[in-house]
Amino acid sequence: MTKTLHHDNAASVLTLIDEYAAISTEGQGVTRLAYTDIDTTAKQKFMSLCEKEGMTTRMDSAGNVIARRPGVQSEQAVACGSHLDTVVNAGRYDGTVGVFAALEVIRMMNSRNIQTKHPVEIVVFASEESSRFGVATIGSKAMAGKLDLDVLAQAKDKSGTYFPDAVRSQGLNFDDFGKAKRTSAELKAFIELHIEQGPLLETQEVQIGVVTSIAAPTRYRLEVMGQASHSGTTNMSIRKDALAAAAEIVLEVERLALQEQTNYSVGTVGFLQVSPGSANTIPGRVEMIAEFRSNHGESKDRLKIELRRKIDAVQKRRGLTIHTHLLGDEWPVLMDPSVREVIREACLENGLTFVEMASGAGHDAMNMASLCPTGMVFIPSVGGLSHHPEEFSNADDIQAGVVTLYDSILRLAEPIRS
Ligand SMILES: [Zn+2]
Repeated sequence: MTKTLHHDNAASVLTLIDEYAAISTEGQGVTRLAYTDIDTTAKQKFMSLCEKEGMTTRMDSAGNVIARRPGVQSEQAVACGSHLDTVVNAGRYDGTVGVFAALEVIRMMNSRNIQTKHPVEIVVFASEESSRFGVATIGSKAMAGKLDLDVLAQAKDKSGTYFPDAVRSQGLNFDDFGKAKRTSAELKAFIELHIEQGPLLETQEVQIGVVTSIAAPTRYRLEVMGQASHSGTTNMSIRKDALAAAAEIVLEVERLALQEQTNYSVGTVGFLQVSPGSANTIPGRVEMIAEFRSNHGESKDRLKIELRRKIDAVQKRRGLTIHTHLLGDEWPVLMDPSVREVIREACLENGLTFVEMASGAGHDAMNMASLCPTGMVFIPSVGGLSHHPEEFSNADDIQAGVVTLYDSILRLAEPIRS
């Protein structure tokens, strides 16, 4: 039995979601790419909303917004937040729900005149999406001291703008990005509220997902070097067809991931480029990107070993060469057991149904987890749809998310009884 919820908090969140949908590049849905004028406008507008609630605000050297409500007895903050940048033609809810729910938490504390032992912070992370520069969660990586500055120095967007130039146009200095690093002593805990971006909560008719771990991707760029030749005159027995070899690998990635699916492991080949790409020429070269994600390190290790075995076998049998470039290899990140417990208690107290679940997508929370005890709250995405203009979460679920976040943050920040 679930309690009927009032929608007051969801209504404020939805009003902001509508307003921010207009802060977008023209086109379908919302496009607010990281470190653009539009993105900076969105962040500055949010800073003034926080200031209206009596918070002090600052933008750190990596472009993260940090708004703070002081604590009474401690400097160690309890933080919550998410991101305001989007993919191209995005929906309205990814990132924004977590940011505006965090503001709603502060508004609730203000209207109830609640003081807390620990300060409460809202963090809006810069460049969570990899859409512009191919690197995801840049702001939280900077905060956790995990940013690879050499990679970013060389990163370019589609128009050819280098990362350091892009951030300079927004008043930031790339040489100072390292200064965004924070210490564990500054933060007691962090919680990110986010839409699920998948169908599990909706299909199971559960209101809240308490995230147990965040799946880490391992990504390879594979170059299959075969031999291009005439498709009419080259015998089947002497061909070195790069696409036929690539096809074997595509199917193997799927087969291996299916074998490991009980460990929430998934495998995808999402990019394939065939050269020369003509109907009467045997493909001579294929470039492909294969990825595995898993919530179990050992499961992913097995996937990596098996894929290597397959690549070697295909090379040998077909007499061609496959170059393997490892683009990224991350270990799954566990959410903190005590923060999970706090979130579960908040759900129970509000009569909300919840399920413990893994996150298949990456989030800023995975970087924050190396700084302080971290948790995530998921709310349902209708149809599991995300990174799409029709992405939607209903008011009931947003309300449930806000009250869960509010109670969780309050427990961690410790209200002062007066
Ligand atoms: Zn997001």
